[in-house]
Amino acid sequence: MGAIASALQACRDRIATACAASGRGSDCARLLAVSKTFPAEAVREAHAAGQTRFGESYVQEALAKMESLADLDLEWHFIGPLQSNKTRPVAQRFQWVHGVDREKLARRLDEQRPNGMVPLQVCIQVNVSGEASKSGVAPVHALALARVVASLPRLRLRGFMAIPEPTPDMDRQRQAFRILADLLRQARHEGLELDTLSMGMSGDLESAILEGATIVRVGTAIFGRRD
Ligand SMILES: *Cc1c(COP(=O)(O)O)cnc(C)c1O
Repeated sequence: MGAIASALQACRDRIATACAASGRGSDCARLLAVSKTFPAEAVREAHAAGQTRFGESYVQEALAKMESLADLDLEWHFIGPLQSNKTRPVAQRFQWVHGVDREKLARRLDEQRPNGMVPLQVCIQVNVSGEASKSGVAPVHALALARVVASLPRLRLRGFMAIPEPTPDMDRQRQAFRILADLLRQARHEGLELDTLSMGMSGDLESAILEGATIVRVGTAIFGRRD
């Protein structure tokens, strides 16, 4: 087995173990393989090992990879910070966007999503660690933004996403993820039909799954260190 295939298997094992520990069933969280900075060949290798969902953070890099992998049936998720003037290719080429954190961005993606395509699947990014991170709507404003996004016809709001400040302390990891899980509960209580918590990365996916993650975004543990 190649390095990527065995790393993928190890990652799937971690996810299954955490899902079992969470009591939600062994496939409670889907794996998004974060391939940013790695070449198309690495994606091809992961696909050969059964991986179909990939996350990218840089628009130009992602478009080039899509081009060279056009022969494969892949699901592309945009997970990076998105500038308002870069929304068009994202609206046209990706299936998911995880980093929507302001109304202007949502409205542009909605206007630019081609009519013949299924709606763009969206997660609202929430800044759960306060001032330390720049991206993400503040938790107190997340539900208001969720109502707006849910009303846009070419978008389908699926849930929330967060990138908490890294910490080795599992209690603190879980505290941060719980903020996102609470928001999902509140939004559902208001009648929004959401099913997604995009949270957990290479270093904290166990904590995220214990708090209800349904998508974990894993780069380093699959493809190795980025430089
Ligand atoms: C890079 C990135 C990841 C992957 O992080 P790893 O620690 O390498 O697993 C996950 N989510 C987002 C938004 C990222 O930018």
